[in-house]
Amino acid sequence: MTAAALFRTLTGSDPAGVWSAPGRANLIGEHTDYNDGFVLPFAIQHRTFAAAGLRTDGRIRVASSFANDAVEVALDELEALFPTTGSQVPAVPEWAAYPLGVAWVLRALIPAAARAALPGVDIAITSDVPVGAGLSSSAAIEGASGSALNELWSLGLDPVTLARAGRRAENEAVGAPTGIMDQMASMLGRADAAVFLDCRTLETRSIPLGFAEAGLEVLVIDTGVEHAHSTGGYRERRASCERGAAALGVPALRDVTVADLPRAAELLDDVDFRCVRHVVTEDQRVLDTVAVLAERGPRAIGELLVASHASMRDDFEISIAELDTAVDTALAHGAVGARMTGGGFGGSAIALVDHALVEPVSVAVRAAFAQAGFAEPHLFTVTPSDGPRREA
Ligand code: ADP
Ligand code: MG
Repeated sequence: MTAAALFRTLTGSDPAGVWSAPGRANLIGEHTDYNDGFVLPFAIQHRTFAAAGLRTDGRIRVASSFANDAVEVALDELEALFPTTGSQVPAVPEWAAYPLGVAWVLRALIPAAARAALPGVDIAITSDVPVGAGLSSSAAIEGASGSALNELWSLGLDPVTLARAGRRAENEAVGAPTGIMDQMASMLGRADAAVFLDCRTLETRSIPLGFAEAGLEVLVIDTGVEHAHSTGGYRERRASCERGAAALGVPALRDVTVADLPRAAELLDDVDFRCVRHVVTEDQRVLDTVAVLAERGPRAIGELLVASHASMRDDFEISIAELDTAVDTALAHGAVGARMTGGGFGGSAIALVDHALVEPVSVAVRAAFAQAGFAEPHLFTVTPSDGPRREA
């Protein structure tokens, strides 16, 4: 069902418009975003669609093809609903906290008098971004709802402000302590390019990838193992990074260089030190990837992708057996490079593969998963794509 059709089922009328925003794959730079570091993601062709229209009663209703029931609240109830903290479950179903959280954040950006005059809105959401696969369906739903509200409420906000609003909704309304990378990748993506992002300054640069000209494809290997950002290991890794920065007397690990690592080893326990080492070396690998792409082209970045995966597996310890099998098998069958992508503990790996090798690598990965007794992986290619747009 399209978002417009879902909207019609919900309201009995046509939407005022349909807006969409993409998911993203991260080429390199994992767990560097909340350490004020560097990342190099790209938006993908999979998108989330928000069909939306105004209503006259000051209420907001959200529906998703993923959920049975729509959720409706008065706009002026949003302040009481949010913020939640990570340990508190939101008072609405978790999925609804994404679009309602974006509405709450956007309302908070405008003066109280104007806020009271904002009309209510209905939003119907559909998506072809796989959920929980490490391709940021969360940023896509935030970006699609934010783009719809921005236009329907005539807020005139720029893409970076919308990205920040999405992150704030995810952190404070959903309670997932994620960084800004996903939202910036979704909002600022360009066809055939990656978004180089300095997560401290939020400065971005569009980096041409040239995959198509080089005959390369990005193969996603979705393990089907769902990760959850709002729980467990993700939080622990963030705490290790914060302890590392505090021990080294810097605001964030961004301020630590490879040369500082021996001192970090003296100050920190083994687990925290290896977390610090991952972040510090990963920041350097992002900078190296940007340089190598410009100087030697996409075929030359394979080693950096492989080193990134090893660092996440051995130092940051966020890989799982399925992701390691995906990466090792892709490399053994001729991938130029491969690594897990996204927050870890599940989700997807990406492999940079010659067009002609997509099929044989896919066959080999499926066979390796079957052999290991893992659930069948979901394989598909992703194309670096444009950010949000109005569809109708
Ligand atoms: P990822 O961003 O890697 O897909 P997250 O855990 O960050 O994984 O976000 C997934 C969550 O986002 C889902 O569990 C759901 O709550 C919400 N979500 C994403 N897309 C949709 C959608 N189309 N409809 C409703 N909720 C969605
Ligand atoms: Mg997410």
